[in-house]
Amino acid sequence: QETNDSTPEAVNIDVNVDVVVVGAGFSGLYMLHRLRQLGFSVRVLEAAGDVGGTWYWNRYPGARCDIPTTDYTYSFDPELEKAWVWSEKYATQPEILRYAQFVAERYDLRRDIDFDTRVVAARWDDAAARWHLRTDTGQHIACQFYVMASGCLSLPKTPDITGAERFKGEVYFTSRWPHDGVDFTGKRVAVIGTGSSGIQSIPHIARQASQLTVFQRTPNFSIPAGNGPVRPERRAPLEADREGYRHEARWSRAGVPNERTQIYGRYSTREVHRERFSAAWQSGELIPILSVFADQILFRDANAVVARMVHEKIREIVRDPQVAELLCPTDHAFGTKRPCLDTDYYATFNLPHVRLVDLRRHPIQSITETGIALADESMDFDAIVYATGFDAMTGAIVSVDIAGRDGLTLKQKWAHGPLTYLGLMTVGFPNLFTITGPGSPSVLSNMMVSIEQHVDWIADCLVRLRADGMAMIEPTQAAEAGWATHVNDCADITLYPTADSWYMGANVPGKPRGFLPYVGGVDAYRGACDEVAASDYLGFRRS
Ligand code: FAD
Repeated sequence: QETNDSTPEAVNIDVNVDVVVVGAGFSGLYMLHRLRQLGFSVRVLEAAGDVGGTWYWNRYPGARCDIPTTDYTYSFDPELEKAWVWSEKYATQPEILRYAQFVAERYDLRRDIDFDTRVVAARWDDAAARWHLRTDTGQHIACQFYVMASGCLSLPKTPDITGAERFKGEVYFTSRWPHDGVDFTGKRVAVIGTGSSGIQSIPHIARQASQLTVFQRTPNFSIPAGNGPVRPERRAPLEADREGYRHEARWSRAGVPNERTQIYGRYSTREVHRERFSAAWQSGELIPILSVFADQILFRDANAVVARMVHEKIREIVRDPQVAELLCPTDHAFGTKRPCLDTDYYATFNLPHVRLVDLRRHPIQSITETGIALADESMDFDAIVYATGFDAMTGAIVSVDIAGRDGLTLKQKWAHGPLTYLGLMTVGFPNLFTITGPGSPSVLSNMMVSIEQHVDWIADCLVRLRADGMAMIEPTQAAEAGWATHVNDCADITLYPTADSWYMGANVPGKPRGFLPYVGGVDAYRGACDEVAASDYLGFRRS
């Protein structure tokens, strides 16, 4: 029988398992598969109606991955790799969602997942050494280990624009797109936001709308994706030696095999600048354009070489010089915000029915019943599309009311910025793991590689605890403080902290400013995690 008292002792437990995993995106699916194989009882709780996470929610037109799909794919089972062939260099959202569903079916994962179930609270019971979770469906679930596989980019930012609720027309969020699509034919459409989702969807919306107005606060760097069939030079090394290729990815800097350059922008000639930039631009891939020069993320002068050449490209494509200037990012160094990959984004602004509004010069005063009012102009729209991004990396985690030892909540603990050891655990919250959490390479990497690494590390850790007859694991204060210092030191030698980016938490009003992911590289990070595990979980207390 249910009681209203939420203390762990006072409620009846509906489900009691070894591990609860929150989220059925790529992290949660693989975590479930691994743990079940290892003989743990597992329950996955997922707010969505099906598997897929990011690829379940973000169904906006033009949604695609921006890491080549030959790399953005699970590698844990060679048979799975053989069973699935990606159709394009960058797969569309429907194809990636089908892949997640294919994986769920292949390993019979859905039977251990509760869909349409949001975890709202979690409380650590120190005496029993168990977590107690509460869901919005009224379930109480107890578990020994609790894994937040809740996604780095899964909690949409609520638009902080006056009057947003007043608009009587159609309203869409790129991150919560209707499942049966939207037809904008003949409609006057506003898109607010020019991050990755805006940049991917704007050309598609422009093809249908009778009028499209794009509201831009900050221009972002974007390079053409050059999408199409998977290129032979990508497919060949993979097919020749799949295991070798995957090994190289795991020990690469960003989770995609890429030759590391020793060429410094500040010491190279203009010819070298052009040659290297052109090759990266032509590749239509993020990792090459982010590593044209070894020093581009370290020094402003080297960075400016790349930024200038992107500006030149924008000016070549966009015919109206004033619009071109508005589209050239000048407020942040190249790469300090995640650059976007696009198909015809800049060229879309050459279309006569597409207009760009610079919100820095003409801020929105309010949304009205019929449209958008600027200080000097009012515009009517049939539909408003918000492409306004996410409360990244920490948002989904602290949106659950998680109380650890002594009742301290994670939100309170992280009020001045997240503190973790290896991005995996945090002091005061025993047996709670985060996948691709703050302090890990996460969003700076090919996430598939980072997800697999975290899942494998956690699975190995639980197996070791079981083998050693231990029930609890928690980092030490010293290890956590040391990791925080290291994460900050690595960020501080780069230009990353100079940008008002979501990596810095700067897109969410009131969020503490600090560089959230670990910039030291997937390879260095994997080495650190392996070393910790090999030295009897150095930096963790186990009991
Ligand atoms: P998610 O896929 O975000 O899944 C988390 C799940 O947890 C969600 O389904 C959510 O509903 C659920 N959840 C969260 N909180 C709760 C709760 N309290 N209770 C119950 N359920 C909850 N990464 C790349 O490496 N390459 C790319 O090309 C790339 N493209 C992207 C494009 C878009 C549009 C976006 C938004 C992200 C992209 N990413 C990309 C990052 C992407 O999020 C990861 O690659 C990956 O899909 C994350 O998987 P995940 O399982 O960790 O998290």
